[in-house]
Amino acid sequence: MRYVSTRGGNPVTLDEALVSGIAADGGLFLPDNLPSIAWREFGAAKDIRETAELFLQPFFSGSSLENDLPGIIRETFNFPIPVTALPVPGGRCSLLELFHGPTAAFKDIGAQFLAACLSRLEGDTEHPLTILVATSGDTGGAVAAAFDERPGIRVVVLFPNGRVSERQAHQLTCWSDNVLSLAVKGSFDDCQAIAKEAMANEALSARHRFSSANSINIGRLLPQAIYYAHASLQHFLEYEREPSFIIPTGNLGNAFACFLAREVGLPIGEIILATNANCLVSDFLGGSDWEPRASIQTLASAMDVGNPSNMERLRYLGGESAELQSKVRAVSVTDEQVTGQIAQNFKEFGFATCPHTATATHAWRMLDASEREGKDWILVGTAHAAKFEQIVEPIIGTRVPVPPELAAILSRPQRFEVIDATIDAMENALEVRFGT
Ligand SMILES: *Cc1c(COP(=O)(O)O)cnc(C)c1O
Repeated sequence: MRYVSTRGGNPVTLDEALVSGIAADGGLFLPDNLPSIAWREFGAAKDIRETAELFLQPFFSGSSLENDLPGIIRETFNFPIPVTALPVPGGRCSLLELFHGPTAAFKDIGAQFLAACLSRLEGDTEHPLTILVATSGDTGGAVAAAFDERPGIRVVVLFPNGRVSERQAHQLTCWSDNVLSLAVKGSFDDCQAIAKEAMANEALSARHRFSSANSINIGRLLPQAIYYAHASLQHFLEYEREPSFIIPTGNLGNAFACFLAREVGLPIGEIILATNANCLVSDFLGGSDWEPRASIQTLASAMDVGNPSNMERLRYLGGESAELQSKVRAVSVTDEQVTGQIAQNFKEFGFATCPHTATATHAWRMLDASEREGKDWILVGTAHAAKFEQIVEPIIGTRVPVPPELAAILSRPQRFEVIDATIDAMENALEVRFGT
């Protein structure tokens, strides 16, 4: 299998696509031809790891990692990903719980998979790779957790000082010597600007071997397709009906993975994207031009994206407006609706949902009754409510129990440096920690 850029360019191997992240022409990598698997004849996989092996084999053919696949899968899928039936009247509706990993959000799955791949491809302790992550909250924690203590790989996390929640800050700053956490005196945009400038600085970049682990890396998308594959297959085998998915969406990585799973033949019905007030995607699918905007701050902050980069992949595979509109739908959800959903979900489901997950439950409740009850739905839960307790607890009027994986992280000591928002300050901090 070769990987091509959405903008043309020469095909590369999976190994190259994983290490470089973005194509040389600025495009995003996709497989040059999608495998087709007779899923419906496959029968029940014993567990998600078995589904993962079957799903990933064609994508790894020709890669130096082909024989490592079972080990990579074992390291990635090392926590439960349950599908829980929701107690709602009329029709079948469940929640795909992607938040039982170390940092309690779905990004753990992509980050762990990428870490498992890169530590096998790289991991040279003489010339370590340095992964730069600018984060507004969730990504940095997942990446730091996944690469923590990996020999031959360093992580530098840049986050806006004082602008992430206390629990998010803890997840960004409680790791071992190979993770350097930098609280930048500035905004998320400042953090991103420093990371970009550092990557573009050839001398610095060559010295530290900078790389990135953001959501455009194909190594974060492939493992995400697996939980859609597994959930849809299990559902189909049990009920002989295709489930439809509603997915909280920001940069479109998670939703694209579902689209990819359906393209390779998995029994998936509708795909509905639930965005917050950043409604570029729903406007576009409604017929407007694609015009990236500045992002708006909302309660579902991990989805505050004004220019979702994975749309380039979706358009490449799914076609332009009219064609794409027949394949995916999108709904934009306001903060007021999110707040209402958190309250209603708590009452009806008996547990708290995070603001991101609440956008999906809203999109489901807004469906026509005939559609809501006539199809089987799987709503995607992207984070645990305890991670956003400052928003959720005042709405439901009670404490959200902290799950053990999150409690384990919150009990670790924190360690971070506060730096000015300049590349010099970052370089200096790198040299103090890692030497030159
Ligand atoms: C990142 C994130 C999202 C958005 O996922 P994309 O792949 O960027 O669309 C949704 N919910 C949570 C909790 C997240 O961390």
